[in-house]
Amino acid sequence: MFGQSPLRYTSPISLTYCVDPDWMPYEAIRVGKHVGLSADYIHLIGKYANIQFNLIETSSWDETLALLKSGDCQVASMLNPSPERESYLAFSKPFFNAENVFVTNSDIPFVAGYGSLQSKRLGLVRNYRHQEYVERYYPELNVTLVESESAGLLALSANEIDVLVGSMLSVARHIQKFGLNELKVSGLAKPHDLLSIGLIKSQTQHLERINTAIDLITESQHVDLFRRWNQMTVVDNTDYRFFYISGAALLLFIALMAWRNFYIVRFNRTLVVKNQLLEDLKVELVEKNTQLEFLSNRDALTSLYNRYFMVQRCEQEIARLNRFKENACLVLYDIDHFKQINDTHGHSLGDKILCELAQVVAREIRQIDIMARWGGEEFLILCPQTDLVAAKALSQRIQSALAKYSFDIIGKLTCSFGIAQYADNESFISWFDRADDAMYRGKKQGRNAIVTANSAPDIVE
Ligand code: GH3
Ligand code: MG
Ligand code: MG
Repeated sequence: MFGQSPLRYTSPISLTYCVDPDWMPYEAIRVGKHVGLSADYIHLIGKYANIQFNLIETSSWDETLALLKSGDCQVASMLNPSPERESYLAFSKPFFNAENVFVTNSDIPFVAGYGSLQSKRLGLVRNYRHQEYVERYYPELNVTLVESESAGLLALSANEIDVLVGSMLSVARHIQKFGLNELKVSGLAKPHDLLSIGLIKSQTQHLERINTAIDLITESQHVDLFRRWNQMTVVDNTDYRFFYISGAALLLFIALMAWRNFYIVRFNRTLVVKNQLLEDLKVELVEKNTQLEFLSNRDALTSLYNRYFMVQRCEQEIARLNRFKENACLVLYDIDHFKQINDTHGHSLGDKILCELAQVVAREIRQIDIMARWGGEEFLILCPQTDLVAAKALSQRIQSALAKYSFDIIGKLTCSFGIAQYADNESFISWFDRADDAMYRGKKQGRNAIVTANSAPDIVE
């Protein structure tokens, strides 16, 4: 992975070094072994500079700094230069640049810089360069020191601090590792990391070797190392439950609408069919009623009005006559010797003759006259607005029409007519009886006669 080593320094040297034991992915100690980005750089630089780096294990960054100050550790593998550190360390060229960030809980939207943190509790890792930086440039800030970035993130999550400054790579890694999804990066924090190797002052003569080795590291080697230690898993923290529930609700809604629509369409279709059926039934009912009315008012054989209807109609006319004092006549006529026709030619021919007679007479009466089959071979005509003279004329018209008419089989037939004009306030029975009496007088006179009724008896009111 590191390619060919262009060794320039033939005489090997050996140096002790310390690391930050808890600063992944930059560096850490795991089971007594130096791991992380700086482990690869130390390995590479050691190879190019022909330096044997021997790890001295520490348990905290504080201890690492203490050992560097005491000279027990001769090299710090990866750290930022700072004025304070420069008092006891010489720094190589920076070999790795990294952004520092402000981390907050997700309720703080954006941190513009240290200047915007006046009212906030700021967390800084003890003895990291940012502590020195903030103490120098922003001494007024409310600073809480934490032991490591991971400890700081947990403090942030527990709401013991509001903002933590950390290195972007390591912070991102810790957030993922601990599942602190409520935390987020809210801004970039100066100064950015320019990570170098620190060499204690007594070993400064080896600085050139180290810088030469750093210069030999190619761009693609830097990229390889960065990629190797920055393979962060992107955790998708989207809460899909909402989408699933919304989606399911939407689908359910669509299904309900479709179902409703389906039933409405079906219901409407049924309704149209039922309405049509109802319409048909209505028409049929009207027809039946008309038929029923006809049947209840008509004579089945001749289709003339029947006796029942005629009585009602005459009563109505009487009420009108009594009010308006108009004339009206009843003409009752009966076929002469009809029994003989039946006896000679049979009853069914008799029926036929009755029908023919009805038609012949109907042609002679006016539209306002009402004719009914009163019984057997007797017929009654109600003639409104008609006096005796006019009724007599009507009877004569019928008589002469019959005289001219030739019936089937039998040829001629005659009728006897009784005419009665309505007398004020008389009852129908009285009116009819007078017509009937006149008609019988006609029979007695020898038939084919037109007889006017006697005047009505005085009405005793
Ligand atoms: P008149 O001149 O005195 O009236 O003699 P007529 O024979 O007409 O009178 P009658 O009362 O003796 O006889 C009437 C006959 O009419 C008797 C009956 O058989 C017949 N008749 C009554 N209703 C019907 C009917 O609906 N059809 C037929 N074919 N005959 C009927
Ligand atoms: Mg008769
Ligand atoms: Mg009769």
